Amino acid sequence: MRKKKILFLLSDTGGGHRASAMAISEAIEALYPGQYESLIEDVWKRHMPYPINRFPDTYGWITGPGMPIWALIWKLTYYRKMQRLVFASFAPLVKNSVTAFMRKEQPDLVVSVHPLMNHLGLQWRESAGLNVPFITVVTDMVTLHSSWICPQVDRCLVPTEKARDLALELGMPREKLAVHGQPVGLKFNEVSGDKRKHKLHLGIDPDKPAILIVGGGEGTGQIYRIARRIAKTIPNGQLLVVTGRNQRLKARLDAVSWDIPTSVYGFVDNMPELMGAADLLVTKAGPGTISEAFIAGLPLILSGYIRGQEAGNVAYVKEHKAGAYASTTRGLTALARDWLDVNNPILQELARNASCLARPNASLDIATDICKLV
Ligand code: UDP
Repeated sequence: MRKKKILFLLSDTGGGHRASAMAISEAIEALYPGQYESLIEDVWKRHMPYPINRFPDTYGWITGPGMPIWALIWKLTYYRKMQRLVFASFAPLVKNSVTAFMRKEQPDLVVSVHPLMNHLGLQWRESAGLNVPFITVVTDMVTLHSSWICPQVDRCLVPTEKARDLALELGMPREKLAVHGQPVGLKFNEVSGDKRKHKLHLGIDPDKPAILIVGGGEGTGQIYRIARRIAKTIPNGQLLVVTGRNQRLKARLDAVSWDIPTSVYGFVDNMPELMGAADLLVTKAGPGTISEAFIAGLPLILSGYIRGQEAGNVAYVKEHKAGAYASTTRGLTALARDWLDVNNPILQELARNASCLARPNASLDIATDICKLV
């Protein structure tokens, strides 16, 4: 029997879009072994002409030091008129290549996990002459950009009730919407509450509190400064620092002589294990990382956020008391030291609140929903 083919469209801006596509594809395989083939296509990188295809490589910079420029782009393109103009200027550059690709692959269903792939994705489906369902899986948690919402898609799956309300406001018909949660890897469900076991498995001290620092797939934010300050102010702790694809940051951290036990990693594929071992997570407000922390029952301090799409995540975490936001490194380390005090019960309380927000079956529910349409 021919396997049904599911095509995921994305652009690798940050680590979240690919992580989501992989999580859904993993869930499809878990539910329907051997029946589906997943194809994950980075449209921007593989089909745009040079040098425009290199734009996503600047995402780490533009959502870091170049944040004011990002905020402006985000705001301006939120307006539909401006959005149409942007899409109309980029569309001719990729159309032939993507159309040929889709015609060749003949997917049975197309899933967009990226805000740029919805309106354009529908155009490509049409120009490729494909009569197959098209689904949007929104991977922004709360304040999603309007380009995610294209009412002509067949289905639109969102991570939270707040995202659903916004999608409705932006014109998505109610019957096409479902709230399933953020798609994250099934391995996060295997994270147990036994931190000692996870620490021993990682080869770190089982008796010291571990602080995990993450800055999304690109390793953005004040990771260096935060790690250095924590090492100075929490002498009984130990650090796990994930630098993602930021090799320069990794080299800087590797060169440090640390005051407390510190493990510096590049791009890791064992995030569930790291979260299982950690007592506290310090991260930018990425929806993927936050949702994974909820499943791992891990309290979090948000050290920053990308203006626009991650602003709502900060409010969400604060509102549900799963963590806090610290705008300065000094404030962040003071909070971390206070929370990690053995006599302070707050860490357990925050962990419980984080667990209440977990949607461990999100990927499975999304996979079921998608496969119903094939
Ligand atoms: N991630 C990973 N390895 C790394 C760094 C990040 O697997 O070294 C994953 C992380 O677990 C999450 C995703 O990349 O699933 C980051 O997504 P998020 O939405 O938090 O931030 P983004 O990178 O998209 O801005």
